[in-house]
This record gives sequence, C-alpha cells and structure tokens, in this order.
Amino acid sequence: MEQWKGLIHRYGARMQVANSVPPVTLFEGNTPLIPAPRLAAAIAPGSQLFLKYEGLNPTGSFKDRGMTAAITQAVADGARTVICASTGNTAASAAAYAARAGLACVVVIPEGKIAVGKLAGAIAYGAKVVAIKGSFDDGLRLVREVADKSPVALVNSVNPVRLQGQKTAAWEIQDQLGKSPDWLCLPVGNAGNIAAYWIGFNESDLARPRILGVQAEGAAPIVLGKPVLRPETKATAIRIGNPARWGEALIALQESNGMILAASDDEIIEAYRQVARLEGVFCEPSSAAGIAGLAKCVKSGALHPDGKSIVCVLTGHGLKDPDSAVEGIEKPLTVEAKFESLARVLGI
Ligand SMILES: *Cc1c(COP(=O)(O)O)cnc(C)c1O
Repeated sequence: MEQWKGLIHRYGARMQVANSVPPVTLFEGNTPLIPAPRLAAAIAPGSQLFLKYEGLNPTGSFKDRGMTAAITQAVADGARTVICASTGNTAASAAAYAARAGLACVVVIPEGKIAVGKLAGAIAYGAKVVAIKGSFDDGLRLVREVADKSPVALVNSVNPVRLQGQKTAAWEIQDQLGKSPDWLCLPVGNAGNIAAYWIGFNESDLARPRILGVQAEGAAPIVLGKPVLRPETKATAIRIGNPARWGEALIALQESNGMILAASDDEIIEAYRQVARLEGVFCEPSSAAGIAGLAKCVKSGALHPDGKSIVCVLTGHGLKDPDSAVEGIEKPLTVEAKFESLARVLGI
C-alpha cells in the first residue's frame, strides 16, 4: 500500500492551497470510521452508526486538517509568525504546524477555560500563549485586529484555507463508507467544521447527507437566532457565542434539509461517557455533542434511525481534557498488595 503522507499529498489537487512550497504536514487525516453497533442499539436502534474518530489526528483534533493547509499557505505567502484565538485545539494544532514549519506562533485563549491537555500541547510545541480576560469571541476580535495591523498570518477558520483542509473529512467518510451517510452529526462552535463538510460534500458527485448540528445549551446562538454574550458550557471547545461561520452553517442546514438543536451539558456528558463505555472510544466532551443531539432527535421522533446510515464526528481526543473524565468519579479502590485483598474486592 502506498504510504500515507498527509492531506495535501492526497487531496491537494482538489484543495485551494499554495503548491509553490512543500506541504507542511504531520501526516494528518486518514482517521478511522469506526462502526458503533452497541451505541446504535442504545440510542439509534436499527441504524448503521459510525464514529469518525478525529481525535486520532496528530495533535488530537480535526483542527490539524485545516492547519496543514493554513500553515502551508502562510509559508508560501512568506509569513514569519502566525496567530490564532482558540478554545484550545486550534492553539495546539497551530503551534505544532508552526513548529514544523519553523514559524513563530501566538495563541490567544480565554483565561481559565481551556482544557489542560490543549494548553500542554500549545506550550510543548513552543507557542507564545496569551490568556485574555474575555471569551473566545473577544479573542477572535483581537487577533483579527492584530492580523490587520501587522504582518502576522491569521490561522483561525475565518481563514478560508482552513476550510480547504477540513473539507477533506467529507471525502474520507465517503471513501470509507462507499457512499455518503444519510445523516452527519457534529458539534457546532465557530461553525467552521460544518461549513467545511458542506463544501466537501458539494464538491463530490455522490448524494449529500442531511446534517445534524448540535450546540451546547449555554452556547447556542444559532439555535436561538441571536449571539450569546456570555457563553457557558462544560463543552469548552464549542463555548462560542457568535460563530464566525454562522451564515455558512445556516446554508448547510438549509440545503441539506438538516436540523440544529441544543443539548444540555448533562446530555453531552452522558453521551461522552456512553461512547467510551459502549464502544471503547474516548473523545472530549464537546465531541460527544453530535451523539447527544442524535439521541435527543431519535427520542423526540424528529429523526427515524431505522435503516439509516449515520456518522457522528468525534472532533477531539478524550485525553485532551482529563479533568472532565475524572470529575465526579469515585477514586479507584486501594487495597493491600496481596492476593486475598484483591480477591475480596473482586468477589472471587
Ligand atoms: C473546534 C472544535 C469544535 C467546533 O468546531 P467549529 O469549527 O468551531 O464549529 C468542536 N469540537 C472540538 C473538539 C473542537 O476542537
């Protein structure tokens, strides 16, 4: 088999990205589409349910798809420094790809609201990390201003090149499934990903899926139809009150005859635990929003799963946010290092 060399090597001819420099890649993409029959039986009986496990990208989230494109373009454009605002995963990804390309990287994050594994990544890859007393939306406003006023390349998903990378996930799913699914379920934060999938599906000859977008109840501007000034949710990757790609998200929802709804933090955390326990797939809380939304739609009768193929996109890896995994969980039992002690707690 031909060795996998990353997204631009595989799909560059179908991506609007500079080809004047070698791709900056960490061999991202090519993530597995995992059948999830036990989860299907629990939340969407009769369906063929699959998990697109984007947590297996090099820095642990789908952001790497966009970043190989954005950083390659930045290099071609002669940038020396890149900047982004981030709820965490964009920061880690930008930092890694910038390191790979020998560029400086600045990331702006909301103070105290970022999962420890994401911050650890950004720091390890050598980015300059600045926390602001504000939200992601404030951060995005600020980095846009910096990029306007200085020769620094902005690599948030307002940068169209990011979507050129991210759209490839749609084609991978089609290749893996041999068709488009009937439904694609995914979390919606800044709405870059839903917009990118829709570009991908539109640039294919196959039928397009219906899209189910899911926001967190405390950060659901698209569902509410108005910006949320102080977004709040445990799903920190989608803690966004004024999505930059709002308009494109609405188009994807409308054109696909899709739906968007809000799931509560309890529903998201329930889905997050369920997918790990039933399928052995560990994602971060935000990533489980698509599953939570699917479960909700099936329960309410808005979506009939029987005979349908459904893909839930798991956007990031569970190890990014270890605090969420152990929150409210009883500590492991501690016993003497003796067979009898272990046998007693195991009941043998
Ligand atoms: C970025 C991110 C999202 C949201 O994607 P948008 O493109 O902002 O809608 C969801 N989950 C995870 C893990 C993310 O990192």
